[in-house]
Amino acid sequence: MNFPLFDPSPAPVTPQCSAKACRADAVWVLAWNNPKLHTPERRKTWLACDEHREHLSEFLGVRGFLKDVVPLADWAAPGT
Ligand SMILES: [Zn+2]
Repeated sequence: MNFPLFDPSPAPVTPQCSAKACRADAVWVLAWNNPKLHTPERRKTWLACDEHREHLSEFLGVRGFLKDVVPLADWAAPGT
């Protein structure tokens, strides 16, 4: 019997913006998918503060990667 491998990485207390050098609290989740690397149902996520949401979504949008922009509060909420 194998024991399952546990992921030891704890969730950060306050999620931070994914933009370079930004330490602001994340407010938005950008869900994206690179069809060259990921299967269609796969979602990668970036976090963004209010200030960088537009910049990051544009970065993903021009590449055709952006799938969804969701408020972090909604994203974190367990599916009901
Ligand atoms: Zn930011």
